[in-house]
Amino acid sequence: MKEAVAGELAEAYDSRLVDQVRHGDFTYVSGRLTIHLAREFGFCYGVDRAVDYAYQARRRFPGRNVFLTGEIIHNPYVNDRLRAEGIRFLTDAVEDGATLGPDDVVILPAFGVTVGDMAKFSNQGCTLVDTTCGSVLNVWKNVARYARDGFTSIIHGKVRHEETRATASQALKFPDGRFLVLLDRDEATVVCDYIVKGGDRQAFLARFGAAASPGFDPDRHLVRVGCANQTTMLMSESLEIGEMFGVAMRTRHGDAALADHFRAFDTICSATQERQDAITALLDAHAIDLMVVVGGYNSSNTCNLARICADRVLTFHLAEPEGLLSPSEIRHRPVGAPSTVTGIEATGLDWLPKTGPVVVGLTAGASTPNNIVGEVIQKLDRFANACA
Ligand code: SF4
Repeated sequence: MKEAVAGELAEAYDSRLVDQVRHGDFTYVSGRLTIHLAREFGFCYGVDRAVDYAYQARRRFPGRNVFLTGEIIHNPYVNDRLRAEGIRFLTDAVEDGATLGPDDVVILPAFGVTVGDMAKFSNQGCTLVDTTCGSVLNVWKNVARYARDGFTSIIHGKVRHEETRATASQALKFPDGRFLVLLDRDEATVVCDYIVKGGDRQAFLARFGAAASPGFDPDRHLVRVGCANQTTMLMSESLEIGEMFGVAMRTRHGDAALADHFRAFDTICSATQERQDAITALLDAHAIDLMVVVGGYNSSNTCNLARICADRVLTFHLAEPEGLLSPSEIRHRPVGAPSTVTGIEATGLDWLPKTGPVVVGLTAGASTPNNIVGEVIQKLDRFANACA
């Protein structure tokens, strides 16, 4: 079916303009505007494959209900397109009273589903189209191995993110499997301090209980730990957290016993790493006036790209091209830019210099298709040159 849907996919998600920019040394010049596009951006291999499989499933099973367990990837445009293709979201369908059976087809997203959900769909006899990315499966393998060997998985991730929930569930396949999800280095510092010095067990559970496996006891379950991460986290932070736990375990148990108490694998996926490296290279190579990062607000890898950029330059995280409201107004998710915040979104004023040359850096998260990037380029061009 791959060839059958190739044209449809190209029409829905490709952009001739983006191809031209890519072939023009990732630079777009028009009037007073120069855009430098990151050398790695947009759809990653896992997302590409997941979207491809979804279209193929629709063709392969005509006349049958084809469901997605939820968002296939964190991009509103792509999810809306799939709805328009007639693919239903399970969350909507269950609300409408639908129950699954052997005639139904369920597409599992790139970030996977929990062990419990997988068992449920199998027991219902559904046809499963599993698009779980190989890089996510690699993390699962490590977490399962930790659990099998009696190590608690310390997962650097967002506790409510689908991928992290699925990854954590891998630990529970084993009778003594445990996990603890940590968001950032601040949380890791608290846990490492507990490992080294001990502390107030109840206070620990009050803070971390909801992010840990059932029955988690910090006095017993932090004795042997293995580090893993959601594939889309900030790589530098994941590595730092791994090192922090290595130091804590060495301090607590000594060098000779370290291997019995601590394991770590780098489970950031290569696509995430390449996109993060590419914007660092872009910001090193060019004097940028402002950075535009495009991707869903709930897309972890996009938010992390925006964080890296915002540390160095004025940055706007757009969910969609429509966020570019006018040459003076921009709707975005704040990552340090001065704005009036409404919910998680804000409207930035006077975001584009009104006169003189303007240099914009541009990147997009792993779930953003090229046509969206192309529309952003066109809009930037229109606005920059309209107010020249
Ligand atoms: S971001 Fe990485 S792990 Fe996630 S789907 Fe893409 S390639 Fe796979």
